[in-house]
Amino acid sequence: MWIDGAAVEAASGATYDDVDPASGSVFAQIARGAAADVDRAVGAARRAFDDGPWPRSSAGDRAKVLRRLAELLLAERDELARLESRDAGKPYRETAERDVPRAADNCAFFAGAIEQREQSAFFERKPFLGAQREIASIVRDEPVGVCALLTPWNSPLMQATWKIAPAIAAGNTCVLKPSELTPLSTLRLAELCTQAGVPNGVVNVVTGFGPEVGAPLVADPRVDAVAFTGSEPTGIAINTAAAPGLKKVTLELGGKSANVVFDDADLELAVEGSVLAMFRHSGQVCLAGTRLYVQSRIYERFLARYLERVGALRVGDPQSHASDLGPLITAQHRERVERFCAQADADGVEALLRGTRPSDPALAGGNYLGPTIFAPRDESQTIAREEVFGPVLSVFRFDTLDEVVRRANATRFGLSAYAWTANVATGLRFAQAVRAGMCWINGYFLRDLRQPFGGVGMSGLGREGGRWSLDFFTEPKLVCIAY
Ligand code: NAD
Repeated sequence: MWIDGAAVEAASGATYDDVDPASGSVFAQIARGAAADVDRAVGAARRAFDDGPWPRSSAGDRAKVLRRLAELLLAERDELARLESRDAGKPYRETAERDVPRAADNCAFFAGAIEQREQSAFFERKPFLGAQREIASIVRDEPVGVCALLTPWNSPLMQATWKIAPAIAAGNTCVLKPSELTPLSTLRLAELCTQAGVPNGVVNVVTGFGPEVGAPLVADPRVDAVAFTGSEPTGIAINTAAAPGLKKVTLELGGKSANVVFDDADLELAVEGSVLAMFRHSGQVCLAGTRLYVQSRIYERFLARYLERVGALRVGDPQSHASDLGPLITAQHRERVERFCAQADADGVEALLRGTRPSDPALAGGNYLGPTIFAPRDESQTIAREEVFGPVLSVFRFDTLDEVVRRANATRFGLSAYAWTANVATGLRFAQAVRAGMCWINGYFLRDLRQPFGGVGMSGLGREGGRWSLDFFTEPKLVCIAY
């Protein structure tokens, strides 16, 4: 782990195995943190906040450090992309072309954002104690303090920078707990932070399991704010644990997003976009469009083309440029996904495509699973209701805009939604009526870092991105002067 600017073992000396999802072999030993390590890391972060130079430095100086960090990440793009691909089982094509560059962009973006962030002042004239007085009110953006940052395994480096960059840009210090399944790129990131000039204690990383590290970290009274990305049940547990201390909390949780294809859509674009929205990283993406709604008039034609495209996706070694779908994160997770499929079978749901474990002996050690497509009766069936977080799609037929809005909203989640249509009015009507934090029309995850990211309902609490991240990682202090 990384505490106070140095690589350290767990206080207990314990370690655990980091397993390569593509082969099932152990390829790293990771320090297994516990409460004593959380105590050490939060202590370092607290000292760095209360007495250290970072919260007292200028926005411009912090921005310089973040820009250096962005450069260091890009200089190591290939090594980091290989490491991330190996640890998370994510296709190297994606980690090299998207995740690592995006991690660098996050750092450079929040460097600019903090430099350009405006603070406000108000001037007025008011009577006070028998005289008219000038009043100058200044609103100072101050850092919140020590921030606990908790990240999942599906995009570890991207997620870590998405939280660390705004937290430290605003002058906070932090303790990050990466997923126990994918800690490696985050540990390297912490080293690069120090190399870029982040003072000791400002960025700390404690590795280990949720109940052993995450829980004491969230509950620690010296922690002022908690930013979490992960699953719905963990998000609820974290919100509950943070409540007694009235800590600031953001939660970015799961989804069961509707992807709606209207009958006037550009068919090829909608097919390609819908395949990407569902099967990128084998469906292990919070934004995955896991409920596909196709308007009746084009249902057969669209589905024939869609099945053809999905059938052509190549399942294989994530390090190979030829692979579209790598392995699932763990053997247990693949079994969980398979149990969802078995439940759908038991519920009598028709399978339009059945994904299997590949027969190629070269892939036998990995957690590979091909794409599955079900046609559930309605949204109440388990397969259409729960977040499977694997390559499993539910497809439905619909007739009208009102019907599809009602059905898209028949979920407790509300992360994202997608609509494919040639009619601007149809797209906007859908976007206005759908209950989701984000809606893309004729696109998937087209992202501008200035925009808000997050969901409603059980998909989360609060927003990240642009000024929303900086609002979370700052407290406005009013200073009022009468003269
Ligand atoms: P998870 O909830 O199991 O774990 C997330 C993190 O929380 C890990 O670091 C884990 O160790 C830690 N944790 C577990 N129990 C804890 C506890 N009791 N107290 C504190 N920390 C604890 O999620 P996961 O399986 O790693 O990730 C997949 C989930 O993340 C999916 O539900 C996915 O939708 C979601 N996700 C959401 C977004 C988003 O931005 N909305 C992005 C990516 C992933």
